[in-house]
Amino acid sequence: MTRVVVVGGGFGGLAAAARLAKLGHAVTLLEAAPALGGALRPVEQDGFVWDASATTTLLPAVVRDLFRKSGRPLERELDLEHVEVIREHRFADRTSLRLPGGSRAAQLAAFDGLTDRRGRPQGQAWVDHVASYGEVWELLRRHVFEARTSSPPAEVTALLRSREMLHRRLRADFADRRLRLVAGHPFEAAGHALHDVPAWAGLTAYLEQRFGAWRPAGGMAALAGVLADRMTTRRVEVHTSTVVDDLVVRSGRAVAVRTRAGEIDADAVVVAIDPRRLATLAPYAARTTPAIPPAIVHLGLNGDVPALPGELVLHGDPTLVVRPGGTAPDGGHAWTVLVRGRLQEDVLLALARHRVDVRQQVATRLDLSPRDLVERWRGSPLGVAWRGRSTARLGPTTPVPGVYAAGAHAVAGDGLPFVGLSAALVAQSLGPSVTR
Ligand SMILES: Cc1cc2nc3c(=O)[nH]c(=O)nc-3n(C[C@H](O)[C@H](O)[C@H](O)COP(=O)(O)OP(=O)(O)OC[C@H]3O[C@@H](n4cnc5c(N)ncnc54)[C@H](O)[C@@H]3O)c2cc1C
Repeated sequence: MTRVVVVGGGFGGLAAAARLAKLGHAVTLLEAAPALGGALRPVEQDGFVWDASATTTLLPAVVRDLFRKSGRPLERELDLEHVEVIREHRFADRTSLRLPGGSRAAQLAAFDGLTDRRGRPQGQAWVDHVASYGEVWELLRRHVFEARTSSPPAEVTALLRSREMLHRRLRADFADRRLRLVAGHPFEAAGHALHDVPAWAGLTAYLEQRFGAWRPAGGMAALAGVLADRMTTRRVEVHTSTVVDDLVVRSGRAVAVRTRAGEIDADAVVVAIDPRRLATLAPYAARTTPAIPPAIVHLGLNGDVPALPGELVLHGDPTLVVRPGGTAPDGGHAWTVLVRGRLQEDVLLALARHRVDVRQQVATRLDLSPRDLVERWRGSPLGVAWRGRSTARLGPTTPVPGVYAAGAHAVAGDGLPFVGLSAALVAQSLGPSVTR
């Protein structure tokens, strides 16, 4: 039996541990925090509970595949609910758009409700842009995200080497600035500058249209909970409150990880944290920077508040993203506000300027700066910031024999579906334990 140590118990580490245990490896999972889940662990204050980071996921098939390949199917443990309106965008000119997921026809109709200065509807421009990513997704899914082929077809190499950046693609496809804002939003929200994001990465719009967005009943904490339970059923040895300081490399190969309590031997190590945090891997990540989280304000509200969709984007500087959700005592409401840009006043006043005025309803609030969040999570769950087409990432293998990489820092895509795919790639690379 191969002894595999997984470093980090966020979605990436949990997914890798579950898959590898099912493949017959003896898996030990080491997590620095007192509980598993990483950025999926909820935030609580005064009886209010908020999702700390992700609220929905694209590509539900990735989560389903993880559960099927590591034990009982997801449906037996957790409901994934389809989110009809992925988000509502409100623009500076007071127009707005509700973006539906999972349907080309619904998106065509929604964008037709946006007209340009000459009164022309924008639906066709939007669906043409999205359709241009259909083939891109199929190619990358087969040769990059779901499996690594040693000699990918020339189209894949050409795509990945293309110098075309997303901001240029959006300028070419859309005369209307509002459509550029809608298409660029997922990247700007995740801390990327559009002139540094390769055009192919815009395939997120295709995933939203084709597969829609999904929310686990009970929030992301419920997903973290069932994954934590799976550690028990798959007999993964879990050590929480255990910080890994570095890898131990002998004769050019990783043979253990070093914690404050001593070394833990390993035949293979899966690093599901920011590799900069381990001195052995840091040089390989030295030319990149992490994508920095937004400032976050969790609001606990009482009384009447405006009814909002699952996500409301108030464009401007700063851009505010309001995510109602979570649980609240006594008929209250739990909202989370993500802030990107220059906030020169209190967030409640900034919201009120957008006519979302809840200043009199606040029962509690928790303000977290990007620095607070990175400290809390011991790294950024948003992974590596795009810096052009050749932005380097480790994973699924690394230059150190015996060391693999999963999680947000190991994949060229944002969010849970790509983190889940990174764990599947590590499982493929390691394969079944030889002595099963
Ligand atoms: C504000 C925000 C909103 C988001 N919204 C969405 C969304 O709506 N949909 C979506 O799909 N994605 C979203 N994401 C992204 C999503 O949260 C991440 O993709 C995902 O949680 C990353 O999982 P991970 O396991 O790679 O990292 P993490 O969850 O960060 O897990 C890493 C774990 O490793 C542990 N660790 C770190 N260093 C060490 C060490 N030295 N030793 C031991 N353990 C260590 C940490 O404590 C942590 O538990 C959002 C992210 C943010 C910040």
